[in-house]
Amino acid sequence: MKQVVFISGKGGTGKSTLVSSLSILVENKMIADCDVDAPNLHILLKGDVQKKDDFFGAKEAVIDPELCVKCGLCEETCRFDAIEECKVSVMKCEGCGACVLVCPQNAIKLEEVKTGETYVSKTNRGTFSNALLDIGAEGSGKLVTEVRKNVNNYKKKEEWVLIDGSPGIGCSVIASMTGADAVIAVSEPTKSGKSDLERVLGVARYFEIPAFVCINKYNLNLQVTKEIEAFCEQEGFPVIGKIPFDETVVRALREFKTPVEAGNSVVTQEIKNIWSRINDEMKKLESVS
Ligand code: SF4
Ligand code: SF4
Repeated sequence: MKQVVFISGKGGTGKSTLVSSLSILVENKMIADCDVDAPNLHILLKGDVQKKDDFFGAKEAVIDPELCVKCGLCEETCRFDAIEECKVSVMKCEGCGACVLVCPQNAIKLEEVKTGETYVSKTNRGTFSNALLDIGAEGSGKLVTEVRKNVNNYKKKEEWVLIDGSPGIGCSVIASMTGADAVIAVSEPTKSGKSDLERVLGVARYFEIPAFVCINKYNLNLQVTKEIEAFCEQEGFPVIGKIPFDETVVRALREFKTPVEAGNSVVTQEIKNIWSRINDEMKKLESVS
């Protein structure tokens, strides 16, 4: 099974729109949404959840009042001011465990805290794995790893997995990319878009994952599009697609439809071309490995 991850330096570049369009065009695949902070692919895929699991991504201290002798050592030790009058503030506790070590009564334990949920859904485009991190919770990288584990656990004989990666360059992006066969960085032609693209391509290069570039809404700023192409050529990242801006795509998204479902022929053809180029690039990579 070949894993292709779609990433972007920031949110809103159109990578989920591209992945959801490809989920219609590509045969024999699974789909995963690794944007666990703000997932939205499920809105376009409209699947039926077959399996839902709680995710425990953090720990917090719990004091047993029966054992506590109110010596105050834990309160003095906690660097996060999370303990007051022998009570732990859930919002402040970082789960570091320092209070557990100093308590002379063994009155403090670290307990796992639920910080999100994972889902495996059946859709008419294939099995879909995704997750949702609770608001303000930590551990997005670990939760992404769970999403990818579910891909492995539920795969049958699919040839591809299309992964909608997290935006940015943090640990959830790294967790999205780990072990992938190729990365497709989706950018838009703005100065900040170019800067974000450069950073995210740097992450792919660091982890030695072959990376390719798609410029979305390229015709909104042809000058910056040229600058992105020049950068990609200089750095050895092939540009495998340029999708034009089209009002019908915006209208389709308002109705929770992909450009392919909306019947936009120009955008659909370019997305088909992108998939064909991804295939060609993957074959080239296989032939040299
Ligand atoms: S260190 Fe242990 S015994 Fe002392 S106040 Fe904290 S919980 Fe209670
Ligand atoms: S686990 Fe760490 S952060 Fe939480 S209460 Fe204990 S010392 Fe403070």
